[in-house]
Amino acid sequence: MDDRMRERRALEHRRALQRKRRQQQIIRRTCLTVIAAVLVVTAVVSLSKMRRSQAGEAVSQNVNQGSPQTVDTTYKNVDNFKNDEEAGKVGETSDEEEQEEICVVVDPGHGGKDPGTLWKNTYEKDINLDIALKLEKLLKEAGYKVVMTRDDDTYPNLSDRVQVAERNQADAFVSIHQNAVENSTTISGMEIYCNEDSDSKSPDLANAIFDSVLEKTGAKSLGVVTDSDFVVVENNTRPACLIETGFLTTPSEREKLLDDDYQEKIAEGILEGLNVFFEKNPVF
Ligand SMILES: [Zn+2]
Repeated sequence: MDDRMRERRALEHRRALQRKRRQQQIIRRTCLTVIAAVLVVTAVVSLSKMRRSQAGEAVSQNVNQGSPQTVDTTYKNVDNFKNDEEAGKVGETSDEEEQEEICVVVDPGHGGKDPGTLWKNTYEKDINLDIALKLEKLLKEAGYKVVMTRDDDTYPNLSDRVQVAERNQADAFVSIHQNAVENSTTISGMEIYCNEDSDSKSPDLANAIFDSVLEKTGAKSLGVVTDSDFVVVENNTRPACLIETGFLTTPSEREKLLDDDYQEKIAEGILEGLNVFFEKNPVF
């Protein structure tokens, strides 16, 4: 091999080396660009997630600032529950048992500015609440999810009460009332109202509750009314009934209705009736 030939080969070798280096540089730059792009995308996604979760926190903080003494509280409590559920879904730590609870809305009739039927110092609204609070306790002990339309002496209006049932997709709505009649101090017994047009399960619910309450208390039956025009029953799309547990205008019955043990029996009867209804009409 002569000198010229050697020189040409050396030149070719250097060029080949330079080409190789250039290619390596291009590959390295491409890799760095890809890595940088991935890092930027990841940062943007995390930032937007963080902003979303901060916004969620702000909403639930606002909801938690309600006073427990107002009608709106009912809705706020409902909203809190929903937020809890949603938070559970986001964190994938949802409590399956909670989702599988049967929801009963208990509606103590009247309240606040509206005393309902009254006789001397006996207000219907107070007896309704007494029975409803006893029922709430029994239902919770039995594992039901209970939502009260009121749990103190306040007045949620009639459509508010229906909305509580609708918003909670109540599996049953039970309104508790006391009766009164003019020109009689002897009439006694219970009545229950439902509406067969609003939900086909309502008569079933009313019958189950009525049978159990009559059995528990020994009270007289004045019948099941299936074409009720009570707003809380008629405008409800959920299975709903309204029970009149006795006459405040009849002294002997009024005395019973004011008695704690008798109120407890009414509450036990309603609970047993609900148990029967849900056995016949399983929610899950
Ligand atoms: Zn009433």
